[in-house]
Amino acid sequence: MALITLSPLLSSTPNSAKHALIQEHITHQIFTSLHLHRHKIHGGGGRRFSWDYQERFNFSAFSSSTGGWIDVVAGAPKEYEDAEFIVVNFYRFVFVQNPEEEVLRHLSFMQGRDIHGRIYLNEQGINAQYSGPSKDALAYVEWVKEDHRFSDILIQISPATNGHAFPKLKLRYKPSLVQLGEGISHLPLLDQSMRATPLTPSEWKSKLERVNNIDNSLDTVNSTTNCILLDVRNGYEWDVGHFQGAQRPDVDCFRSTSFGLSSESQTEVVASDPLANVDREKTDVLMYCTGGIRCDVYSTILRQQGFKNLYTLKGGVSHYLEKEGSTGWVGNLFVFDGRLSLPPSTYKPETNADTIGKQKTSHSFAKCHVCGSHVSELRHRNCANLDCNLLFLCCLKCVEDMRGCCCTNCTSADRIRPVLRGHQRYKKWHTYRDLEPVEG
Ligand SMILES: [Zn+2]
Ligand SMILES: [Zn+2]
Repeated sequence: MALITLSPLLSSTPNSAKHALIQEHITHQIFTSLHLHRHKIHGGGGRRFSWDYQERFNFSAFSSSTGGWIDVVAGAPKEYEDAEFIVVNFYRFVFVQNPEEEVLRHLSFMQGRDIHGRIYLNEQGINAQYSGPSKDALAYVEWVKEDHRFSDILIQISPATNGHAFPKLKLRYKPSLVQLGEGISHLPLLDQSMRATPLTPSEWKSKLERVNNIDNSLDTVNSTTNCILLDVRNGYEWDVGHFQGAQRPDVDCFRSTSFGLSSESQTEVVASDPLANVDREKTDVLMYCTGGIRCDVYSTILRQQGFKNLYTLKGGVSHYLEKEGSTGWVGNLFVFDGRLSLPPSTYKPETNADTIGKQKTSHSFAKCHVCGSHVSELRHRNCANLDCNLLFLCCLKCVEDMRGCCCTNCTSADRIRPVLRGHQRYKKWHTYRDLEPVEG
């Protein structure tokens, strides 16, 4: 199976295997199924055609605007074998009339398919992150896209090297598609004008370059372009990687994000709020998060607070890394599944020279939670004390010294798990409960 991005949208049945009617100016993502060197493409309205498969392939298409046949080049960015595990993320804000019924339909599609993850539906749409063998994982999203309400979702796919990245499947109605404050059901998520303007990865890249150039040249007064780069994630996510020039968010949990909400009376909050005291009409706010959903949600709140110029990175960092590589990004990307941290090359392989050069400089911001020294591995671990379980960055020496715990207190706690080696995560407590206590 392969995901192929085709522009423009193929929207009609072709006359032959190599021809398709094209509506120009529409970009769309189309799923293909690879069967023994044959691709099937699902165009608008569920129509399909197929052609012989190559790494990159050319075909002619009829252009409705020029009235002639034009050459189209399509490429398959990444191929996954049917049995290979992948992680898929997507979300869509759209009115769903009977979300409970919708949940049942989705659950019945899942019968006999090996999918783990978190898939939530409600009146405001769908938010899905899950893992599975690519055959099942892609079949599900392909099925979701057959519904016109979900046909233009942007899908993020990345490899899962250790099988499932989620412990089980949770597919259900949830009052809030993301956890924020008192919930998000009252927010005008379905009103595009209340959300930020989405920027494509390449638009984001050029805006970012401008922002960072201005910041770096001290002679230039920052008055013409008031621009704030806002990381709408948690501090611990920033710790393993972020866009150059983004301030570390003083937030432990998105639920409590409150940028732009501080009033002048709360001096403490104002100090850590990059949006405090900015001109809400003249400042460009560039917002980003992992996959885009948190920004979309949060931008409606900022809109209501009077911020006029809001921009989000469409598809979030994962989409950016896939399209633009690691330009402007330092470190890894934190992900909310068993993998925890992904190097940018997961999304877009880079040449060796590039990667080596970057890795030398990019880790210096990442500090050990225990001793403050630089960490060599941009990856969190959970505290070995089950009752703490804190996600923290730790240098190798402190991992040994503290036996996987985050602080001295935790090393003497009752329910200590063994130090994790390699890239695993802790299993359920009963797997450790009956082990001999660790020596030392
Ligand atoms: Zn340390
Ligand atoms: Zn701890």
